Amino acid sequence: MTTISTNTPTAELQRLDAAHHFHPFTDKAALDRKGARVILRGEGVWLTDSEGHRILDGMAGLWCVNVGYGRKELPEAAARQMLELPYYNTFFQTTHVPAIALSAKIAELAPGNLNHVFFAASGSEANDTNIRLVRRYWQVKEQPERRVIIARWNGYHGSTLGGGSLGGMKGIHAHGGMIDGVEHIRQPYWWAEGGDMDEDAFGLARAQELEAKILEIGADKVAAFIGEPIQGAGGVIVPPKTYWPEIQRICRKYGILLIADEVITGFGRTGNWFGSQTFGITPDIMTIAKGLSSGYAPIGGSILSDEVAEVVGSGGEFAHGYTYSGHPVAAAVALENLRIMQDEGIVDHVKNVAHPYLAERWLKLTEHPLVGEAKLVGLMGSIALTPDKAKRAAFASEAGTVGYRCRERCFANDLIMRHVGDRMIISPPLVIRPEEIDVLIARATKSLDECYAGLKADGLLVAKEG
Ligand SMILES: *Cc1c(COP(=O)(O)O)cnc(C)c1O
Repeated sequence: MTTISTNTPTAELQRLDAAHHFHPFTDKAALDRKGARVILRGEGVWLTDSEGHRILDGMAGLWCVNVGYGRKELPEAAARQMLELPYYNTFFQTTHVPAIALSAKIAELAPGNLNHVFFAASGSEANDTNIRLVRRYWQVKEQPERRVIIARWNGYHGSTLGGGSLGGMKGIHAHGGMIDGVEHIRQPYWWAEGGDMDEDAFGLARAQELEAKILEIGADKVAAFIGEPIQGAGGVIVPPKTYWPEIQRICRKYGILLIADEVITGFGRTGNWFGSQTFGITPDIMTIAKGLSSGYAPIGGSILSDEVAEVVGSGGEFAHGYTYSGHPVAAAVALENLRIMQDEGIVDHVKNVAHPYLAERWLKLTEHPLVGEAKLVGLMGSIALTPDKAKRAAFASEAGTVGYRCRERCFANDLIMRHVGDRMIISPPLVIRPEEIDVLIARATKSLDECYAGLKADGLLVAKEG
């Protein structure tokens, strides 16, 4: 067999990819017809593909490459650790220096009494841990009937069976089913679902659906509520400011554990270390992954409050763990990533430089005829595409048709901006500089213009009835 390398012609790479690589979240037949885009390398916020395009990565990979591509310190930390101790486990009363140092660093950065880290290799795994952990917590407290977890429709918590069940994506539930004991309430998505209510009243109403659901199930049967401070994969849905304080109040009133899934919002994305700080909430458990290592190594975890750790810790052995819980190489990479974040003041850069600069331009996109609302918290943004802004109307075409067309224009203009339905979303590397933000905005605007012209030509600028 010939050696496959970055010098192999694109068509040959695509042929082999189609023949042997079964992709996640991909329509295989459609991809096989088209051929996957082959990414070869990255530097800062830029990617290079096998055709030589220089692409601005407006999504930081999958919301994770927060310090940007090409940071040499991270592979150097990995190499040092691999030579010293490439692997050892953390089961059976053993530990190692990277797991110790990383858990102490995370405890230092996390707010309040979140001081204990249970490691996993991904966000999905960490949420699977959370399911078992909150149920175990109530067993130890001698209330074993408390096992229902309430989550939100259109939330995303990963795609293992547990994570996918917590998530509220019907397409995921349809492929393989759900675990028992998970219930969903509606999302705080004012633009699409707010009707005639003002945003604050709507935020309160949607939070109060939690209370109604608790009363319907019986408070003595509910273990926890889980939500993302800002829904990411659901379309960068920023809740009204009334939402989270009310959720916190209801959880406290009924003694229900609050899990903040900070897999995207953690580690600087919202302009604070954690999204919970941005929204003024104090969860009992946080899910982390993605930005923890800037995606350079697979690692995630659950940060537990003193109280949760004490209760579960007092119940004898917690029968749960992964071979790669606290993997030394991934932990060493994460630790180095957090050192870079701190030494270079990257959270301050988001808050005081990149966010204000991008906000001034991103929020103005509402002047474009196709854009109804624009949201930006830290460096997590979205725009709603609409044929009629005043009515906040959806398109008559099947949801996602217009978003997909817009994303194709972005691809053609060497900008990675994703679509969720007919909403466009960005989450660029946190190190993005003002001159790169100018490029992002210029390419996004050009893509919107082209998309708009195409919709007009094809007669698709039509609002859905009702
Ligand atoms: C990506 C994501 C996950 C899943 O993480 P994986 O590492 O893909 O398993 C969980 N929760 C949220 C909020 C995410 O964005």
